[in-house]
Amino acid sequence: MFNGILIEKDERGYRAGRQALDEAHLPAGNVLVDVDYSTLNYKDGLAITGKGPVVRSFPMVPGIDLAGVVASSQSSAFKPGDSVLLNGWGVGEKHWGGLAQKARLNGDWLIPLPAGLTARQSMAIGTAGYTAMLAVIALEKNGVTPDQGKVLVTGANGGVGSFAIAFLARSGFQVEASTGRPQEAEHLRRLGAVSVIERSLLSAPGRPLAKEQWAGAIDCVGSHTLANVCAGLQYQGTVAACGLAQGMDLPASVAPFILRGITLAGVDSVMRPLSDRLEAWRRITALVDDELLAGISREIGLGEVIATAASLMEGNVRGRIIVDVNR
Ligand code: NDP
Repeated sequence: MFNGILIEKDERGYRAGRQALDEAHLPAGNVLVDVDYSTLNYKDGLAITGKGPVVRSFPMVPGIDLAGVVASSQSSAFKPGDSVLLNGWGVGEKHWGGLAQKARLNGDWLIPLPAGLTARQSMAIGTAGYTAMLAVIALEKNGVTPDQGKVLVTGANGGVGSFAIAFLARSGFQVEASTGRPQEAEHLRRLGAVSVIERSLLSAPGRPLAKEQWAGAIDCVGSHTLANVCAGLQYQGTVAACGLAQGMDLPASVAPFILRGITLAGVDSVMRPLSDRLEAWRRITALVDDELLAGISREIGLGEVIATAASLMEGNVRGRIIVDVNR
C-alpha cells in the first residue's frame, strides 16, 4: 500500500481525498517510480476541485508532474536507482499521476533528472517553469530579441508567470509584468520585472488595435487579455499563448495580424517531443539558482493538497507549490 490523492466520481458526487492505495491498482506501464516530489499546478487545481474537466477517467490520482527514483523498469532507457522527471503526457488526467508515493509510467514519458538539479529543485520549477521556458524559446524562434523593447508577462504572480519573468530577465529582456495583485509588485521586481501594470488594463474588451507597447509577450491568461495583448504588440511582435486563467475564449480581431504582421505562437507542454523537453530543461538548469527557487516556491505535504488546491483556484497562491508526497 502507498499514500496518494484519489479523485472519484460516482453517484455520491465528485470528491478528492488522501487515501491508502493498493500497488495492484496502479495503471499499466513499464517503469515503476518511487515519487519524491510532485507539485500543484493550475491544472491539478482544476482536477482536484472539479472546477474544470481535466480528469478523463475515474478513479484518478492527480499530479501532472513528478520527480523520483526508478524502483523497477522493463524500459531499456532506465534502470533501478535512476533519478527521473516527468511533465505532462496526460499523466494526472488519463493516467495516474504524481500526487502519490508511487507511479507506474511509460518509460518514453520520462527524462533523466537534469544534471545539476535535485528532485526537489526540479519540482520547484515543475511544469510551470518548463512551460515558461518553452514560451521564451517560442519568442526567440520568432525573432524577438532584447533590443526590440519590452516583453509583457500576464498572470505574473502565477507559476508560469513568475518563471517567465525570471527567465526573460536572466536572458537579457526587459520585462513588464501584468498582475491582479499589485501588492506583490516588489516581489515581481525582485524576479526581474522592470515595470508592473494592473491586469484590469488588459482584461476588459478593448480596441482591435492599440498603442504599440511590447516586442513580445507571454500570456498565461487568454480571453480579452490575450486579445488586448495582440492589439498592443509592436510591428511583427510575437505573443506566446500558454494559458487560460481568465478564459478559454479569444475575442480578438485580425487587425494586428494583417496590419502589424504579429505572430500568435501556441505553447503546449504536454505532448512536446523529447528533444524540446531536453532543450528547455538544459536552458532552465543554466538560469536557476537556490535564491530564485526559494523566492518562487514553497513546500507542502500530501495532507495539505486538497485545501491548497482550493486556494489556488481562488487565485490566492503566489508562485509554485512543491508537494513532498512522503509527508
Ligand atoms: P497559477 O494559478 O499559478 O497562475 C495563474 C495566474 O493567472 C494567477 O496567479 C493570476 O496572476 C492570474 N489570474 C488568475 N485568474 C485570473 C483572471 N480571472 N483574469 C486574469 N488573470 C488571472 O497557474 P499556472 O501559472 O500554473 O498556469 C497558468 C496558466 O497556464 C493556466 O491557465 C494553466 O492551465 C496554463 N498552463 C498551460 C500549459 C501548457 O502546456 N500550455 C502548462 C502549464 C500551465 P496575478 O495574480 O498575477 O494576476
